Amino acid sequence: MYTGFIEKIFEYAVSGRIEAGEKLYRDFIEIPFVVKNETNFLLIEFTYEGEGCRLMIGLIDSTNSLRGWCSRGDKKYTVFISRNSASLGYIPGDIVEGMWRVFVRLDNVPKYGCIYTLKVVGYNTELSNMDFDNLGKVVSNLAKILDLQKFLKEYPEFFLVHVFPYPCREHLESREKNTQERSSSRWYRGDLHIHTVHSDGRFTVCEVIDLARSKGLDFIALTDHNTIAQNIEFTKIGRSRDILVIPGMEITTFYGHVNVFGINRYIDFRRRSKEDFEKLIEEIKNERGLASINHPVVSREPICRDCDFKYRDIENFDTVEVWNGLWHLFNNEALSWWHNLLAKGYRVTAIGGSDYHGVYVVADIGEPTTWVYAENLTVEDILKNIKKGRVYITYKPDTPIIDVKIFDKKGNVYTIGDDVENTDKNVDLIIQVEKAKGAILRIVTDKAIHRIANITENNFIYRERIDIEDTKFIRIEIGNYSNPYELIPQNSDDILAITNPIYIKTP
Ligand SMILES: [Zn+2]
Ligand SMILES: [Zn+2]
Repeated sequence: MYTGFIEKIFEYAVSGRIEAGEKLYRDFIEIPFVVKNETNFLLIEFTYEGEGCRLMIGLIDSTNSLRGWCSRGDKKYTVFISRNSASLGYIPGDIVEGMWRVFVRLDNVPKYGCIYTLKVVGYNTELSNMDFDNLGKVVSNLAKILDLQKFLKEYPEFFLVHVFPYPCREHLESREKNTQERSSSRWYRGDLHIHTVHSDGRFTVCEVIDLARSKGLDFIALTDHNTIAQNIEFTKIGRSRDILVIPGMEITTFYGHVNVFGINRYIDFRRRSKEDFEKLIEEIKNERGLASINHPVVSREPICRDCDFKYRDIENFDTVEVWNGLWHLFNNEALSWWHNLLAKGYRVTAIGGSDYHGVYVVADIGEPTTWVYAENLTVEDILKNIKKGRVYITYKPDTPIIDVKIFDKKGNVYTIGDDVENTDKNVDLIIQVEKAKGAILRIVTDKAIHRIANITENNFIYRERIDIEDTKFIRIEIGNYSNPYELIPQNSDDILAITNPIYIKTP
């Protein structure tokens, strides 16, 4: 029973000026403050002013752990954090006394500089001990609790900040996927790049799960910018029985964006150098996660500052988001980069992601959809098979459907992501395409477009005895090309599907 007990333990305020300068731009500064004993609830308010200023804040606790991030570029941030709940984007947990730090990302510091004010108030209150459910009730019934009136008067923003989780548990009480559906070897489809309210997305964790379910997806990854609060929220409410939710995070830096899949701990996103990113990818691999370079080339369409990946010469990554959202010109460039990597002999899996924000980014959930052939619908199996390359990408969740197989003389059958033992000079290639009548099928090898065929039927089958001598890989594309003879399209063509290669092993 909540009694309204709130005791102020400490209050700290500081102002400062951030000067413009080469050194500070694209950098971080830290503002330390001391959290006193018996504090179990922190309220942080950060404001700044200055024309053209754009700052974002994050929090590091006294144990040196990252505790959250605001990525909306607001002029004022109000954040609270306690043991069992926190503002959106922040990680609930113990408020350990000692030196904490607010760190500020200097997105834009113009000539005249930016002036900031940080105010931190520490409380001892039983609000801190409330679990998700009860805190939600307190928030919704707040006005009725007279004991809190004084507090509210002092901090009217307190209850305007978003508190998670949102009340949508009942949506998750859904049909349970039966064991057979989850544990058969088949193509599972999903969206590997989704934002929620924990960063700059519009919809809650529950809402995006509902949307993904309505599209018929089997899995999604929640990849908010520089936070794992969405994964924490999902584990607290986690009753989604018919969709696999892969913990994710979009490491968002001044040097590009990297999606991390399958790891549910906070990873320091303040990466700057090539070595930083190589180390990051090694860390992720060691923990059996997967790191993917997002929208690697955004050069021709400057729609997103610092979104292209600056260290494209790193060599240890496994996957790249070749297809981001609806097919843009920059996806052509990503396709070109990936194709050249494959041609050089690298084995890098192409994946897709809608980068769903629900507001200003137009692609819907599942546009595109990434299909993964896996033994079971589990995080481990999905990631393992992505790494292996058993992946194709389509522009919508339900179309087109592709099956590619190679048969050799010994009776071996190979499919997307497999390595064909190159003992036969000629093998039989059979491609089956459903739901793409009228589009063009392209068979692409490391050297050229090997074949172009018109898809004349809804259930289309293409067969060819193909010479694979001196070929490193065969991959398939389907699209409505303005010029199907261009290896890399130069326009925003309707690309309908791209498969990863079947690799040809040279003896
Ligand atoms: Zn991004
Ligand atoms: Zn994103």
